Amino acid sequence: MLIDVAIPVPLNTTFTYDAPEEFVATLKPGMRVRITMRRKSAIAMVTALNTSAPAHAKIRPIDELLDTQQVMSPATLALCKWISDYYAAPIGEVIQSALPPHFWKAAKKSTRKGRLAEAHTAHVAREGINAPILLTPQQDAVSQITAKFGQFAPILIQGVTGSGKTEVYMAACAEAMARNEQAIVLVPEIALTPQLLGRFTERFGDAVAVYHSALTELQRAHQWQRIALGEAKIVVGTRSAIFAPTPKCGLIIVDEEHDSSYKQDSSPRYNGRDVAVMRAKMEKIPVVLGSATPSLESIFNARQGKYQLITLTERATGQVMPNVQLVDMRALKEEGKPLPLFSPQLLAALQKRLDVGEQSLLLINRRGFSQFVVCESCGHVDTCPNCDLSLTYHHSKHELRCHYCDYCTDAPDSCELCKGIDLKPIGAGAERIEDILKGHFPTARISRLDSDTVSTQTQRTELLQSMHNQDIDILVGTQMIAKGHDFSHVTFVGVISAEMSLNMPDFRAPERSFQLLTQASGRAGRAHLPGDVLIQTMQPEHYCLQHVIKHDYTGFADAELHNREELRYPPYGRLITCTIASNVEKKGTDYADVLGKYLQTTLERHAPDCIVLGPAPALLYRLRGKTRMQLLLKLNSATQIPGIADCILKHSAAEAPSGVQVTVDVDPLNFV
Ligand code: ADP
Ligand code: ZN
Repeated sequence: MLIDVAIPVPLNTTFTYDAPEEFVATLKPGMRVRITMRRKSAIAMVTALNTSAPAHAKIRPIDELLDTQQVMSPATLALCKWISDYYAAPIGEVIQSALPPHFWKAAKKSTRKGRLAEAHTAHVAREGINAPILLTPQQDAVSQITAKFGQFAPILIQGVTGSGKTEVYMAACAEAMARNEQAIVLVPEIALTPQLLGRFTERFGDAVAVYHSALTELQRAHQWQRIALGEAKIVVGTRSAIFAPTPKCGLIIVDEEHDSSYKQDSSPRYNGRDVAVMRAKMEKIPVVLGSATPSLESIFNARQGKYQLITLTERATGQVMPNVQLVDMRALKEEGKPLPLFSPQLLAALQKRLDVGEQSLLLINRRGFSQFVVCESCGHVDTCPNCDLSLTYHHSKHELRCHYCDYCTDAPDSCELCKGIDLKPIGAGAERIEDILKGHFPTARISRLDSDTVSTQTQRTELLQSMHNQDIDILVGTQMIAKGHDFSHVTFVGVISAEMSLNMPDFRAPERSFQLLTQASGRAGRAHLPGDVLIQTMQPEHYCLQHVIKHDYTGFADAELHNREELRYPPYGRLITCTIASNVEKKGTDYADVLGKYLQTTLERHAPDCIVLGPAPALLYRLRGKTRMQLLLKLNSATQIPGIADCILKHSAAEAPSGVQVTVDVDPLNFV
C-alpha cells in the first residue's frame, strides 16, 4: 500500500512510501514510521493511506512501523494541515512542533514507561476549594459560555484589569469538567504569569496538566501522557499546548489574547490564538478570548458580529481603577541641560510610598544601562559587526552587547576611531535607571526585573516572591513587570518614558503602547489600597495616552480602527511579509527585485485589489551576518492568503539562487 508521510524538513510537501503487507492491517494516519531518506534514517508521520505515486518517482518501502496506536488524532492532523496551508509552513515542521520532542527521538520502545512513572509526583486534588461566589457580571459571563457548550462559538471577554476574568475561566472549566470534557487554557508566557497557573492548580489540583517548552523533555512526555489518557482535565500551557491530545476537549480559553508571544517567530509561524479559534471551529466547541485590551483584530471581529462580546467593566474587588496621570516632560526642559530622567512628580510619588511602606513598580521599556555609547569628540558609536545596530552598554559587566544576535565585547576605554576618552552613555536603560534611583533613595530596597538580571525560572520565582513578601520597595523593570502580576501592596506605578514604545516604526505601536501602559497601570492598587500611575512623556496629547488615562479601551479602539481603515492595515485587510536574506548582498537585492516583479504581475492578473510594497531593506538590514530585503503584501481577505503564499514559496524554491533564503510570514506581528 502506498502512503503519504510528513518528515520534519523545510519542504512544504509530503512524501510517498510503500508500506509492506505486514503493516497494512495496523497502519493508520497519525502513526509514526521509520523511513530512509537520502541514506539517512528518519522518523515520519503517516498523513494518508492508499495514495498514488507521483509519476516517475522511485518509491521506497518504510523501514519500520513505530506505533500500535495513533499518536496524533485525525483532528490534530487536520489542524496541522490547515496551519501548513494558511501559514505556508512545511507540513513536516508543523507536525513536528505539534508533538513533544520525545516522539521524534530514536527512543527504543517501552523504556519510557518506568521513567515516566517516577516523574509523576502526587498532587492533592482540592477541587472546589477557594472558589469565591461569583459576582453577577461574572456569573452572566459563565452562563453565556456554558450555553454554547457543544457548538462552535468564539467569545471575546473584554474585562478591565482585576475584573475577575480568571475566576470566569475557572468556573467555565469546572462546568466543562462536570460534562466530562477537558479544557485547554492558553497563556502567553508561563514564566511571567505564574499567577494564573498557581490559581488553577490551587483550585483543581491534580486535574491540571502544565504544558510549555520550558519543561524538560521527560516532564513534557509525562504531561502529554496524562492529557492523552484523560487523567488531566485542564491543560494550562503556552502556544504549543493548543495541540494537546485531549480525548474530548469541550472548551478552549486564550488568556491575554492580544499578546504577541502567541505568534511563533520561527517556522512554523503560527499564531496560537488563531489556531485556537480554528481548532474550536473544527471540534465544534466554544473558544473564549480574554483580555483587558483585546487586539484590534478581535474587537473588530466582535463588532462585525463574528465573535460574541462580553464586557466586564468593574474590578471584582470593588476597588476603583487606578488614577493615571501624564507628566509633561517638555515643561522640565532647561536651556543647555539634558532632560532629567525623573520628574519631581515621579520622585515625590516614590518617596510617598517609601514613607508609608507601600511598594512601587517602575517601567522602562529598554534593557541595559544605556542605549549606546557615543564618543563626544568624534561622534563615533560602536555597532554590531553582524547586525549594524548600535551596541547596548551594560555597566555591571562593563560590556557592549547586541540585543539581536547577542554579540558581546568588552566596553572600550577609548574611542576606536579618534582614541578620545570622553565616551558618554546615551539613553537610559533599566540598569541605569536602577543605578540613578539608588542615588536618589539610598536606603530603599531596589531590585530590577529584566532578562539580564533574571534568566532562570528559579531567579524569577525568587524575585517575585520577595515582591510578595514586601522585601522590595521599588521594582524596576522592562515590560516583564507589566504582565499579569498581582502584588497586593503595589500602590504606585511609574513609567519613565511613554515614547519608547509609542514611536516604534510599526503600525501597531499605538496598540502595543495602549496595551503595555494599561497592563502596567493595572498592577497598581489591586487589593484594598487604591493605586496611582504616572506616565512621563513628551507627547501628552497623543490619542493613545489620552485614552490610557481615561481607561477608555473602546475610545482607543474607535480611533485606532479608523486609522487602520484609512491605511488598509489589519484588521481591514491582511498582510504577508516576505523576507529575502542573503550571504551575498547583491544576490539578495537582485532576487528580491525578481520576486517583487513576479508577484506584481501575478497579483495584477489574479487579485488586482492587492498591493505589493517594496522590495525595501528590512528595518534590520544586516542581521546575524546576512543582508535582508523585505516585500510587504497587502491583501483584501484571508481567503487570498494560501494561494499567494504558495506562489512565493514555489517561485523561491525554483528561482532563488543558492545562499538566498526566503521566509514567508502570514499575519506578521513583527516587522524587523
Ligand atoms: P483578572 O483576571 O480580570 O485580572 P482576577 O480574576 O485576577 O481578575 O481577579 C482580580 C481579583 O479579584 C483577584 O484577587 C480575585 O481573587 C478577586 N476576585 C475575583 N472574583 C471575585 C469574586 N467573585 N469575589 C471576590 N473576589 C474576587
Ligand atoms: Zn548583532
